[in-house]
Amino acid sequence: MSARFEGIGLVSHDVVVVGGGLSGLVAAIRLAQAGRDVAVFATGHGGLPLAPAVIDVLGYGEGRVTAPGRELPRFLAARPDHPLARIDPGALAAACAWFLELAAPLGYQGTVERNLFLPTAVGALRPTAMVPETMAAGDLAQGGSVLIVGIHGYRDFYPQLLAANLAAAPSPFGSRIDARGVEVVLPGNAGSLRPQLLARRLEQPQVRADLASSIRSELAHEERVGLPAVLGLEHAREVWSDLQDAVGRPLFEIPTVPPSVPGVRLQALLTRSLRRLGGRLVTGAAVVGGEGVGGRLASVRVASSAREVEVRADHFVLATGGVATGGIVVERGGGAREVVLGLPTTAVGLQRDPSSGYFSPRAGDRLGLAVDRLLRPVDRQGQPVYANLHAAGAILEGAVPWREKSGNGISLATGYAAATAILGGSQ
Ligand SMILES: Cc1cc2nc3c(=O)[nH]c(=O)nc-3n(C[C@H](O)[C@H](O)[C@H](O)COP(=O)(O)OP(=O)(O)OC[C@H]3O[C@@H](n4cnc5c(N)ncnc54)[C@H](O)[C@@H]3O)c2cc1C
Repeated sequence: MSARFEGIGLVSHDVVVVGGGLSGLVAAIRLAQAGRDVAVFATGHGGLPLAPAVIDVLGYGEGRVTAPGRELPRFLAARPDHPLARIDPGALAAACAWFLELAAPLGYQGTVERNLFLPTAVGALRPTAMVPETMAAGDLAQGGSVLIVGIHGYRDFYPQLLAANLAAAPSPFGSRIDARGVEVVLPGNAGSLRPQLLARRLEQPQVRADLASSIRSELAHEERVGLPAVLGLEHAREVWSDLQDAVGRPLFEIPTVPPSVPGVRLQALLTRSLRRLGGRLVTGAAVVGGEGVGGRLASVRVASSAREVEVRADHFVLATGGVATGGIVVERGGGAREVVLGLPTTAVGLQRDPSSGYFSPRAGDRLGLAVDRLLRPVDRQGQPVYANLHAAGAILEGAVPWREKSGNGISLATGYAAATAILGGSQ
């Protein structure tokens, strides 16, 4: 039973999710699909609008990974505290299948069976498992010939450099990449262009017709065309497919530096999905503490607009992100603190070894919450701190997402699995 209170919404819910990044939204949507009354409280948007909106599952293990599904059992056997090792083995595949259906309006495609190799903004090839349709033709796993097109006035995208770097390295299977970079001028563009502004401009049919004609005049033998990821905000499918038809070659977006237009699209889709299902999302709301009763978390305190409100629920999901977004704070002197509930973290020896190289393992890399198989944070004895509290995403211990290329895969799979645990069912 729920009661209203002034300003925020409902005093009590079936489930409260703390954090509105990928992991929190995935858990919330799945719970709302199952008919649960869910509320998400979040200080901000997390990584979604900054990140390229691709779902990495495992890009690097012992070396570069071409088939994450095949590599994962071995990878996780050596890392029993990894978040993907904590969940049911079928949960990752189930979560990916669920996500492809949910994200169908953005045409997501891919599988954990095979990584795609997409160009980055600096022309490296990076492995990833699932991508929006606007990026899929950028898979250069088997090599190919590409024209990389920059747009004059749009900074942070250097087509010649990108193409030179792509051409300098073979594809993962040894095939050649033939790449050339050009910059075109968009008529009427009088200054510097920010990504979202450019994305909106390209939603005008005449602007993209002009862009297509400039690209056509530059095209030679190239089989495909890559552009910065700014092909529309709300109408990406229309912008991308129109442009592709007009250019006459497969066309793909290349993720750029933050902010990320594809990330904004994915965030909008997830937010809309949650609200359509009747879930609530309250942003600008910091959860600042909680009250436990008899081994269960009874409520959390939400601070919003200078008020603090107690919100009760039967179940809670903690999805506040890792060190980067403030879910965990590393303290001077080497300790670490989970911010909302003061849960124990794996805070051992966080001081960085100054002699270690940039990519070598660092103390604190795998910092986070230890959890049981239901993703419930556990105490130093391995017992759940609260029987009804689950954690998901970057707050979990045991992974090094930036090195493994596993970040959004972990958030998706554990958000999904946290919801499964609450629903009390199998995947
Ligand atoms: C710049 C960037 C690039 C990335 N690139 C990739 C990539 O290429 N591939 C990939 O797979 N992944 C990528 N990621 C994703 C990243 O690796 C993580 O997996 C993912 O963002 C973590 O999601 P999350 O939901 O756990 O946390 P976050 O996205 O960090 O969300 C945390 C949420 O918790 C909220 N919050 C925090 N504290 C509180 C509080 N006290 N009360 C209420 N709310 C709170 C925040 O406001 C936010 O809504 C990237 C992320 C970033 C930032």
